[in-house]
Amino acid sequence: MITMSNIEKTLSTPTWQTELQTAFTNISDLLTYLNLSTEALGQYDKAAEGFPLLVTRSYASRIQPANWQDPLLRQVLPHPDELVNQADFINDPVGDKEANIAPGLLQKYQGRVLVITTGACAIHCRYCFRREFQYSGNSAHQSQLESIQQHLVKHPNIHEVILSGGDPLMLSDTKFSALFDFLTNLSQVKRIRLHTRLPVVLPSRITPELLTTLRASHKKVIIVIHSNHPNELSHDVANSLLSLKNTGATLLNQTVFLKGINDDPKTLIELSVRLFDCHTLPYYLHVLDKVTGSAHFDSKMHHIHHVYQQIQKELPGYLVPKLVKELPGEPNKTQLNLPSLA
Ligand SMILES: *Cc1c(COP(=O)(O)O)cnc(C)c1O
Ligand code: SF4
Repeated sequence: MITMSNIEKTLSTPTWQTELQTAFTNISDLLTYLNLSTEALGQYDKAAEGFPLLVTRSYASRIQPANWQDPLLRQVLPHPDELVNQADFINDPVGDKEANIAPGLLQKYQGRVLVITTGACAIHCRYCFRREFQYSGNSAHQSQLESIQQHLVKHPNIHEVILSGGDPLMLSDTKFSALFDFLTNLSQVKRIRLHTRLPVVLPSRITPELLTTLRASHKKVIIVIHSNHPNELSHDVANSLLSLKNTGATLLNQTVFLKGINDDPKTLIELSVRLFDCHTLPYYLHVLDKVTGSAHFDSKMHHIHHVYQQIQKELPGYLVPKLVKELPGEPNKTQLNLPSLA
C-alpha cells in the first residue's frame, strides 16, 4: 500500500540500504523461506555464534528452494562442520597481522597498499579468510585519511590504492565519494582498485551517485568483484556490472575454489563464460585460505590441478583465471603451476 510515510521513506533511504535492513540474519527465517526443514536448527545456530548468518534477499532469491546442496546456500549457511577443529586451520592464515602497518592499512606487496575501509559486508561467506580479523580500530575513518597520505609520502613507489574491507561499497555514497575523491586528488596515486562483492550480492548498491563518483575520477579504476558460481550472476547483477563497465572501469573477478560448490570443471567453465557475458574477466582462482572453521571447503591439491587442467583445455586463455595461493611473507600471491608435462 502506498502511503505518505512510505513515499517519504523511499525518498530518504536508498533502496539498497532498505534492502540491507531486511537481509536474513536468522537461520530459521532463511530455511523457512527456502522451504527447508528447521528440525536440526540447534547445531546450525551454534555454528553461527562467532560469525552470524547474513544474506541479502536478492542473493537468497537466487538459491533454489528445498535444496540443501544448493551452491549458493552452502556459501552462506552456518554449518556444524565449522565447529570441528583442524590443526592446520588457523585464525590468520594469510599473515594479515604482520602486514597491518597502520590502522586500516595493510601492505604486503610492492607498489600497492590495501585500505580496510569498513569491517561490514552485505553477506557472510562461511569460508571468509577475514572472518577472524580484528576490525575494531582498524578501518579507514576520516581521521585515518591522513595516515594513508603519510604512508604514501614515505613510500613514493606506491601507485595503487586498493579499497577493501569488509566491503568498501558498504560505505554510504557520501562517505565513499569522500574517500574516492581524496584518493583521486593525490597525484602519486595512478590506480584505484575496489575489492567488492556487493555488485553480486546486492546489485541495487550500484546507484547513480556511485557511478557519477567513479566516472568523475581521472585515475584508472579497477573493480574486482567476487563470484564463485554462475548462478550468482543474475540479470540484475549483469545490469549493474554493465553500468560499472560504462564508467570506464576495468572489471575483474576473483573466485575461491570451494569443495561442494564449484570444485568441478563444468561449473568453473560456466562461471568464466558467464562473467565474460557480464563484461568481467576472470582474474584469480584462489586456493582456500586455511582459516579456522573452513576445513570442510578444502580440496586436495591434485584434484584442484585436475580441474584446472580441464579449464585450460576448454577455454580461451583470457577466460582462464590465474590459480593462486596466498602464502604469508611472500612478495606476491603465489601462482600454482601445473606439474610439468615436459
Ligand atoms: C591480495 C592482496 C593485494 C593484491 O594483490 P594483486 O596480486 O595485486 O591482486 C594487495 N594487498 C594485499 C594485502 C593483498 O592481500
Ligand atoms: S564478502 Fe568478502 S570479506 Fe565479506 S564475508 Fe564474503 S568473502 Fe569475506
